[in-house]
Amino acid sequence: MQLRSVVAILTMVGSVVAAPLAQDRAKPAAAVKLDPRVDRLKTEVASAVDGMSTFTQQMVDQIFSYGELGFQEQETHRYLVDILKKNGFAVEEGIAGIPTAFMATWGSGKPVLTLGSDIDGIPQSSQKPGVAYHDPLIEGAPGHGEGHNSGQALNITAAIAVKKIMEREKLPGTIRIWPGTAEELFGSKAYFVQAGFFKDVDVALFAHVSNELAVSWGDRDGTGVVSVEYSFRGETAHSAGAPWRGKSALDAVELMNIGWNYRREHLPLEHRSHYVITNGGDQPNVVPRNASVWYYFRQTTYPKIKELWSIGDDMAKAAALMTGTELLPSRVLGTAWPQHFNKTIAEVTWANIQQVGMPTWSDADQTLAKALQKELGSRETGLALTLPKALQGPVTDNRGGGSDDIGDISWNVPTVTLRYPANIPGLPGHNWANAIAMATPIAHKGTTAGAKVQAMTMLDLLMRPEVVAQAWDYFRTVQTKDQKYQPLLRAGDKPAIELNKGVMDRYRPEMRKYYYDPTRYKTYLEQLGIAYPTVKKN
Ligand SMILES: [Zn+2]
Repeated sequence: MQLRSVVAILTMVGSVVAAPLAQDRAKPAAAVKLDPRVDRLKTEVASAVDGMSTFTQQMVDQIFSYGELGFQEQETHRYLVDILKKNGFAVEEGIAGIPTAFMATWGSGKPVLTLGSDIDGIPQSSQKPGVAYHDPLIEGAPGHGEGHNSGQALNITAAIAVKKIMEREKLPGTIRIWPGTAEELFGSKAYFVQAGFFKDVDVALFAHVSNELAVSWGDRDGTGVVSVEYSFRGETAHSAGAPWRGKSALDAVELMNIGWNYRREHLPLEHRSHYVITNGGDQPNVVPRNASVWYYFRQTTYPKIKELWSIGDDMAKAAALMTGTELLPSRVLGTAWPQHFNKTIAEVTWANIQQVGMPTWSDADQTLAKALQKELGSRETGLALTLPKALQGPVTDNRGGGSDDIGDISWNVPTVTLRYPANIPGLPGHNWANAIAMATPIAHKGTTAGAKVQAMTMLDLLMRPEVVAQAWDYFRTVQTKDQKYQPLLRAGDKPAIELNKGVMDRYRPEMRKYYYDPTRYKTYLEQLGIAYPTVKKN
């Protein structure tokens, strides 16, 4: 039974072909001149990506099995660097002072295209793929509860397919591939910019997991963020014998949080702020000498982020004053600008999305999706069957939401984020539920569809210099006309590369037993012996 269903999955994965490239394609984006050679090569590259579906699937499954948290993506880093080197890329490792970041380069001359996607996982989201209820591989361990295991597979597949065509057709151009290291901590991209990695770049193509195949331009909904840790220093004393001789740093942390939570009522509705206490003292009978609290301050524009941050600084100073403790210099652990995407590149990408279309989902895929939606009390809509009706333009009523440090890159070079349908709609995000589809045919097919779009867009950019020129015109005369990039990072801020080390040290030995071995198993589901889909019986 189990074996047979695995064979069925493999047959499906092998035969995945997204909607054929329509001859009578939708009206091309205004910027794009029709050129039969470009269209022919785009058709060719899409079928080449289809032919690489096993390669793509293995990368998706492999990185899923590593389940590494931000700044500790050592296995993922080594794995990706090996693949890129094997495929002719020169790789600079440990860039911008971040050991698990790299810049892989192939080709020469203009245009310079960079492809990025995040690689880190989510705490406590260990989960068996293909199982429609909470069933961790390892209780308490991290996992890919966002789906960041798929984006590099998408970009690398696209890049290798395009590279072959560039070699044969002698097309000039440079491809660079980089990881969004520690995206969940907003930990790397502002440092890449600061280190000059985007200075000579023409276009940045970013890819992020989604449940739709889509792209947008202009101001994106959601927020930018500064992630900052406040630490207080007091004095120890016997908590029972002489409490009046102590000064509690933990009291300062608690009073800061209370102050912030009162102030919250009077902050703009679109803001988001949240914290965790990273150090609450040693043991109850010793008045805590040191305590720390880690805040995310999120707002929709750069000036509003700065304003929110300065209120946070005031709260910390006031808490120190109230408790007679000392406020130590705060530490910035990450930053992200709000995102703004390029109109021209989005239009070109959208035209390619319309040609590729949604993947063909199987009954098994839909059964998994609906069972999970039911389990979570979400609407049982299953997987999306159609594309969004139109290219999405700028957000007009931004009510806040998540952030991504691709924002920093988007304010330095023309950038878009391609969202590809590798996950299930209606999930909470940053949760075990978001890991369930991410090593199944849903993620494999969604990633292949995204890789086709990415590869086709790369050919547009390589072969139509007018597109790149128009993208820069939008960037210079519209996007950055009134708002110029200024880093949220302060002088002297350093990447917080020690974050998550303790958690990974604790779980990695056990997680290692579950690493995917593609030399023995066709898929990770097969290695784990999971029948696809596994759903609750009612
Ligand atoms: Zn993400």
